[in-house]
Amino acid sequence: MSEKPISLWDTTAEEKDYRNPLGKAGIVDVAIVGGGFTGLSTALHCAEKGLSAHVLEANKIGFGGSGRNCGLVNAALWLPPQKVREQLGSRYGPRFIQQFGKGPEKVFSLIEKHQIRCEATRSGTIHAAHAASGFKELQGRAAEWKRLGEPVELLDKTEVAALTGCEVFHGGLLDHRAGTINPMAYCRGLARAALGAGASISTGVRVTGLHKSGGRWTVETDSGTINARAVVLGTNAYTDDLWPGLKRAFTIIHYFQLATIPLDASAAHILPGGQGLWDTGQIMFNIRRDANNRLLLGSMGKVVGSADSGLSQRWARRRIKKIFPSLGDVRFEETWHGQIAMTPDHLPRIYELDDQLFTAIGYNGRGITTGTLFGSAMADLLTGMDKLELPLPITELSTVTTAPVMSRLYQTAFTANQVLNSL
Ligand SMILES: Cc1cc2nc3c(=O)[nH]c(=O)nc-3n(C[C@H](O)[C@H](O)[C@H](O)COP(=O)(O)OP(=O)(O)OC[C@H]3O[C@@H](n4cnc5c(N)ncnc54)[C@H](O)[C@@H]3O)c2cc1C
Repeated sequence: MSEKPISLWDTTAEEKDYRNPLGKAGIVDVAIVGGGFTGLSTALHCAEKGLSAHVLEANKIGFGGSGRNCGLVNAALWLPPQKVREQLGSRYGPRFIQQFGKGPEKVFSLIEKHQIRCEATRSGTIHAAHAASGFKELQGRAAEWKRLGEPVELLDKTEVAALTGCEVFHGGLLDHRAGTINPMAYCRGLARAALGAGASISTGVRVTGLHKSGGRWTVETDSGTINARAVVLGTNAYTDDLWPGLKRAFTIIHYFQLATIPLDASAAHILPGGQGLWDTGQIMFNIRRDANNRLLLGSMGKVVGSADSGLSQRWARRRIKKIFPSLGDVRFEETWHGQIAMTPDHLPRIYELDDQLFTAIGYNGRGITTGTLFGSAMADLLTGMDKLELPLPITELSTVTTAPVMSRLYQTAFTANQVLNSL
């Protein structure tokens, strides 16, 4: 098990890490593979509904995307609502948009209910236009969300400059439903809440095999066996070879982050309202502050080098110089990256891989709300909800044959982008 912090959030999270080896094997209603938002939300909601639930995590709580992400608690998907409706059709489209539009509300209400100490700030997030074309796209999104009665605000160039402290954007979309958190702390808080509700969690336990006999699943791990009536896989972009073909259901891309040391008053003009921001560029970048006034920024791709030297920190310095010229030279204290599971149509999936074996997967970089909501939906499903009531239809597992090649091509393009933008 890796002992090195996996991200800044791993070091700064107020919520305590929870480690526990697999004890005596037993029988549970549901075995959950993966200790991220999906697995822990499934465990919490199952336990609250009276099911015995056991989470098996190969590394530590939040080891996957959940402990590495930017902490932007956004509503719905990257895709604009009109596109989601178009792709999902009239049965699931409006339901999905409605339920996932309320995703931040669900996350912030869990934070409140379980008093999760995760730097929660609910002052919205800003989708910033990197060019005039980006602003046009945001106008379309704003019009559609407003038509649906959602609290979003289109910002012109001057307004976005006032909210961000940055003159380069062509406008923006402020989503009042959204906010920011320390994602590792939220993940650990979900674990604490799940344990409190009666679920069990084992860490440092890799699930190595799933076999069905006599209406029951035998879950083999590298430290023992557990039996379960149902199994939920919450392994997402960190899926291994456990279930044939599952890790080929998406293309992996990487996303990296750098965090500065805590900044002084000279940075007070940057995102003074505490919003998180991402832009409309094809190779998007994001920026936010943490509770200790560090500036975090990142983009698609892997870290090249370290916080002190190498390509990624040059990229970050250059980016800061361009958008916040008054800040001068800054020092970085942490850098990390993580994996994102991209599906060809940018929609997540729910698969029933076998009888009573489910997974929600392929969140396309939007997992705080998605994982939390799918976890809750999994618990509903396992306690009798009709499959047709799920937020998405259950689909057949389909593999992306080009996934490994695409993953390498994306990585090359993202590194080239770091090179070009660090000169
Ligand atoms: C750098 C980065 C930035 C992001 N920014 C945002 C953001 O700002 N907002 C947002 O909403 N989303 C963001 N995302 C996406 C989000 O983090 C993910 O969608 C989310 O974490 C997925 O959660 P999960 O629980 O489904 O999977 P994960 O958190 O990836 O957890 C999967 C877990 O499964 C475990 N596992 C795998 N195989 C096994 C096995 N065989 N046995 C036992 N355990 C196993 C892994 O160890 C891992 O801990 C970002 C992602 C990255 C990488």
